[in-house]
Amino acid sequence: MLRKKIVFMGAILILLVGLFSTGCGDQEFQDATKLSDLEVVTSISILADITENIIGQRGSVDYIVSTGDNPEDYELLPGEIQMVNYADVFFINGMGLEMMMEEALGNITDTPVVHVTEGIEPIPLEGDDAPDPHAWLDVKLIFSYIDNIADKLIQLDPDGENEYRENAENYKDELKELDGWIKEQVKDIPEKNRVIVVSENAYKYFGEAYGFQTEGIWELNSHEEGTPKQISRIVDLVKEKELPAVFVETTIDRRYMGTISAETGAPISGEVYTDALGSPGSGADTYIEMMEHNVKVFKEGLR
Ligand SMILES: [Zn+2]
Repeated sequence: MLRKKIVFMGAILILLVGLFSTGCGDQEFQDATKLSDLEVVTSISILADITENIIGQRGSVDYIVSTGDNPEDYELLPGEIQMVNYADVFFINGMGLEMMMEEALGNITDTPVVHVTEGIEPIPLEGDDAPDPHAWLDVKLIFSYIDNIADKLIQLDPDGENEYRENAENYKDELKELDGWIKEQVKDIPEKNRVIVVSENAYKYFGEAYGFQTEGIWELNSHEEGTPKQISRIVDLVKEKELPAVFVETTIDRRYMGTISAETGAPISGEVYTDALGSPGSGADTYIEMMEHNVKVFKEGLR
């Protein structure tokens, strides 16, 4: 891949030198060599943020799925396949999250595709042997994401090893703090209210880590969504547990949860980020901010 990029850069260089052959060739050469920084593409915005924390100034990171879309049923556009082709590495969550992207890429790309959840013990989907992919919602599991990402970056760019390792350790320190903060916040929620109801049942890892029962109208965004049977099951559950609030994800149509709210009287007390960060300026445009936002919304609704 790197070789292909060098050839590609060489072509640009020849073009630039050809265009500006009147004496500024040195400048052009410097700009062109800067392109040799690592170019990383990730499937989702959350992985892009985690990677940026590790890569620092040694490369650039871009992601595929826009912050308003779901990754589970995302189909790669031709331009995005090109984006992956020109990258040095494509980091995906794995555990089946990007099944459709992986199918589309098949064997048409030489770019290494790395599953950054490698080594994490998956929680299975309900009624299914397949893993639930939403491991990032447990902050401690991000440590494995970081190790997998850092290992690959070091392999691709050995000169950066010290920098990557130092960045990874600093980021882990921030995450340890976040993990501790979440555990403190949860204490303010009465135990009987520690039930998270969202549209997609994606909070299993979060629930296991921080002591919540977790429920969704449907199991995974690529499955059947919002059937009358699914809706009535959640309506019964919210009534039976007398839950003070339900929640909706930023990437999902509010109408399903709206029906549940109308039938139970439990308000939708906020929007949470599950599969994507917020857009710039939303106050949830990093992984850490996204988790802080979610916890505040849960606490506000359930206490
Ligand atoms: Zn999801």
